[in-house]
Amino acid sequence: QPPFSRSAAEFERAKRVIPGGSMRQATWFAPHPPYAVRGEGCWVEDLDGRRILDCANNFFSLVHGHAFPPVVEALRKVVGDGTAFGMPTRHETALAEAIRSRSPRCEQIRFCNSGTEAVMFAVKAARALTGRPAIAKFEGAYHGSYDSLEVSLGSDPSNWDGSGGDPAAVPYDRGTPAGVVADTVVLPYADADRCTAILEREAPRIAAVVLDPLASKIGMVPPPAATIEAIRNAGTRHGILLICDEVITFRLSHAGAHPLFGLEPDLIALGKIIGGGLPVGAVAGPAARMAIFDHTRGQPPVAFGGTFSANPLTMAAGLAALDAFDLPAVDRLNRLGDTLRSRVNAAFTEAGVAAQMTGFGSLFRLHLTAAPIRDYRSCYPDAAAKKALAAIHLTMLDAGVLLTPNCSGALSTPMAAAEISLIAHALVEATLAERTGR
Ligand code: PMP
Repeated sequence: QPPFSRSAAEFERAKRVIPGGSMRQATWFAPHPPYAVRGEGCWVEDLDGRRILDCANNFFSLVHGHAFPPVVEALRKVVGDGTAFGMPTRHETALAEAIRSRSPRCEQIRFCNSGTEAVMFAVKAARALTGRPAIAKFEGAYHGSYDSLEVSLGSDPSNWDGSGGDPAAVPYDRGTPAGVVADTVVLPYADADRCTAILEREAPRIAAVVLDPLASKIGMVPPPAATIEAIRNAGTRHGILLICDEVITFRLSHAGAHPLFGLEPDLIALGKIIGGGLPVGAVAGPAARMAIFDHTRGQPPVAFGGTFSANPLTMAAGLAALDAFDLPAVDRLNRLGDTLRSRVNAAFTEAGVAAQMTGFGSLFRLHLTAAPIRDYRSCYPDAAAKKALAAIHLTMLDAGVLLTPNCSGALSTPMAAAEISLIAHALVEATLAERTGR
């Protein structure tokens, strides 16, 4: 990036009023991020007038890219009628019906404002449904900013205890109450026997296992069949519920990721694409589970509020986005993802470079090792891997392609073969340059 760019100047200005200069940890990277000015389809323009191919898509939430005409049109239609009411609107029922029509597990739905809230409400519901306090999660997985689920949130190998025993429960935020850490049970993703042993031992206090079926921080690899079996057995033997965090993975099939992997979640946390690019979250599940939020018979077991929950703008945008993400559109985007992964992996093999691309459907992630990615620990084969990924991320940006800072990405429906070639070419070049030092 040019040293005296407008984005650099804007970042200096921002640092005075925003701690760290940007509002979200995830959108920052050194020396400073480019500022977005406008987007159209899969392209964004930054403050310095650069055109960038967007594979970050606001952290995988824009399945149709930017300013998707049906979403813009839907927003135009409703915005003049008011943006939020202390009354329900028909828009919320319509989006709930659209989601229910995609998966029978999403029989009933409550909307909120973020994926963090969705996971939080699902966890509270699981505790109320079972009368148990603890939550089990997989080491390394990210589920938003609710404190129980920030325990053992990976990105740093220093969080491993190294003893080879059960993964330790490591708090992420300083000041996390000891009770929160104690009530989080951490499971190893790739060791089903150990998962089973931990779940058997801790069963009387575990309300639910939280599973993201393609967790980015676990390497973006599907859960091993034996791990899924361990979760299922915990459910049948001990009544431990399954919460699927599908905040990102709902895009992987028309019905989300749970049917792809044979999962039968008791509750599903949703977010990202179901809001059409506006702030959103949702909890979905069978009516018998969702009744825990029913407030019509006195105080509900779990309170579910939110001043802006189910606001008509988000509901209308979400409906337009999901309507256009029909079966053929999902299938086409997933095939583009298959093409990208096979092309990049073939180039790495041919060049004999220790790198690989994981992912599924329209989601992908780069790794700087040829060893199989099994869990979050294998994402960081050595201390330098994280730095090297950050360097590749910057090289990609210079080449006009935006990835997330850990070199993952999501495709959007405006992309076609030409964009896939562009991403593959830039990524292979950037990786070879970093790995071979040329
Ligand atoms: N779960 C997963 C798997 C996520 O990736 C995210 C956000 N990236 C969240 C939950 C939290 O969603 P939000 O940022 O909307 O709070």
